[in-house]
Amino acid sequence: MSASTDPWRGVAAEEAADGPSGLTSLLRSRSRALLASLLAPHRRAFVLTTVVVVAETAARLAGPYLLKLGIDRGIPPLTAGEGPDVLLTVVGVFLAVLVVRSLLEYVFLVVSGRVGQDILVDLRRRLFDHFQRLGISFHERYTSGRVIARLTSDVEAIAELLGSGLLSITNGVLSIVGISVALVLLDPFLAGACLLVLPLVWAMSNWFRRRAVVVYRQTRDAVALVIVHFVESLGGIRAVQAFRREPRNQEIFDDVNGRYAAANLRANRLAAIFGPGVSSIGRASVALVLLVGVRRVVSGDMTVGALAAFLLYVRRLFEPMQDLSQFYNLFQAAVAALEKLSGVLDEKPGVAEPEHPVALPDGAGRQGHQVLFDAVRFGYGDAEVLHGIDVEIPAGQTVALVGPTGAGKSTLARLLGRFHDPTEGRVLLDGVDLRDLADDDLRREVVTVTQESFLFAGTVADNIAFGRPGASRDEIREAASVLGAHELIEALPSGYDTDIRKRGGRLSAGQRQLVAFARAFLADPGVLVLDEATSSLDLPSERLVQRALHTLLAERTAVIIAHRLSTVEIADRVLVVVDGRVVEDGSPRDLLGVTGGHYRALHRAWEDSLV
Ligand code: ADP
Repeated sequence: MSASTDPWRGVAAEEAADGPSGLTSLLRSRSRALLASLLAPHRRAFVLTTVVVVAETAARLAGPYLLKLGIDRGIPPLTAGEGPDVLLTVVGVFLAVLVVRSLLEYVFLVVSGRVGQDILVDLRRRLFDHFQRLGISFHERYTSGRVIARLTSDVEAIAELLGSGLLSITNGVLSIVGISVALVLLDPFLAGACLLVLPLVWAMSNWFRRRAVVVYRQTRDAVALVIVHFVESLGGIRAVQAFRREPRNQEIFDDVNGRYAAANLRANRLAAIFGPGVSSIGRASVALVLLVGVRRVVSGDMTVGALAAFLLYVRRLFEPMQDLSQFYNLFQAAVAALEKLSGVLDEKPGVAEPEHPVALPDGAGRQGHQVLFDAVRFGYGDAEVLHGIDVEIPAGQTVALVGPTGAGKSTLARLLGRFHDPTEGRVLLDGVDLRDLADDDLRREVVTVTQESFLFAGTVADNIAFGRPGASRDEIREAASVLGAHELIEALPSGYDTDIRKRGGRLSAGQRQLVAFARAFLADPGVLVLDEATSSLDLPSERLVQRALHTLLAERTAVIIAHRLSTVEIADRVLVVVDGRVVEDGSPRDLLGVTGGHYRALHRAWEDSLV
């Protein structure tokens, strides 16, 4: 891959295999299944709308026929000096049909609108639910931009199909069939003449469809790129600004944005040829009908009214043909979207919930759980990262993991939180394989606090209560005070009700740590996995955090990826991990005595850095 032939597209690059190639791809079975399950609850509404559409089309097509009656049957009585009864009757029926038609249109729009929204609500719900369930490994692979593209442009494509697409296709097909029948009934000979232009329309549609497949696919791909680039560049705005990537990102954005516009222009040009093309054929047909029809009227083969109705029908015959080609695009976009959505919905969580969960032994966990890594091997891809870990951690012990970057400490922590399953061996909690634990039990008993200690929009209290939804204000306060964070939170502009996204509510690194600890304390898990923040804190905060940590770790099993000397010193035991193996194991004091040991060297380096 060289820079000149394959310019770096930034994080926006989507895999080419993200969708099907369009036209020929019939709905794959998983798309069909998704569609069927989305539509199934609305069967009755579909029957109702179909009946309404058929009735509406009949009402619409009655217009020209009533016109014919008005002319052919209305004029003779008047010229004969009789009353306008016939004319008035026809006009009355015409108006009545008009009213019925408006009502039918109203019913159709209301019912189909409701069904459409129900389906979209259902689809978005399923997607959100599913994205939440999918494991960390999925989200590492499937970027946030793509998630958003799924939730926006793909759902939108289906919305458009349900909204305007289905109406235009049903109307279109019914109109073409209905009008053709009407033409033949009115004058088979003239209808035959009209049929002569059909091959021309057919050829044009084919030409259009072939091009449209390519062009509309380009627009869909381009809009996905715009969304993905937009979301991901802004999602990483800190890094972008820190590394002055703005000009380059702008360049990439201008490129994808330009490509989107260009693709749209191509689609536009195509439609600009096709639409007027079909219209011209329509107008030419009107001329042909006039030419032939007038002669037939003169020769007495056709009435004036029939000719007038015929002309109106022919004009209307070509309108839905344009709609049909538009529908084709909507349909294609929706098929591609369905394909991507059903693909995502088909993704299985990397770590599956057990079919027959095993409960943890009764009475266990009051002092934390016993953790056992039993001959654990693991790799993210082909390369193995952990090469056989055998560690037993008794309940209540605090274990510090230390070692060089990339040694596998975080990986070990992730296996304990069951964000991945080992490729070989087992991770056990009080003798129960994590794979056999129900998700709810696992998430309650093993809580991971990561470096980011993510805070959500909302108040400080909300963020602490995140650890145990439904916790009372007193419980939240208690958790904070036990960890020594109470005074500090009270000092914020609105105390516990301070919105952390608002001015004055912004928390320092140390404060964020404390809130994260309070959250974990409230959750009260038997096992705590902690990736200690690497960013250094000022001394008072550091002291506060260390004290809080001490409280948090009491009476539970803890595994800490330690970056500070002070943390390692409060641990009961240190595991030194190097290259995916545990190379030293013992109390901090014992390990200090190992001459030439890793821990001893690390300890010395830490001490030196403090001087
Ligand atoms: P540590 O926490 O000790 O710094 P990690 O457990 O993060 O080490 O990483 C161990 C190895 O696994 C490294 O070689 C790293 O490149 C690799 N690794 C870590 N996370 C991932 C991931 N999500 N996908 C692929 N490889 C990963």
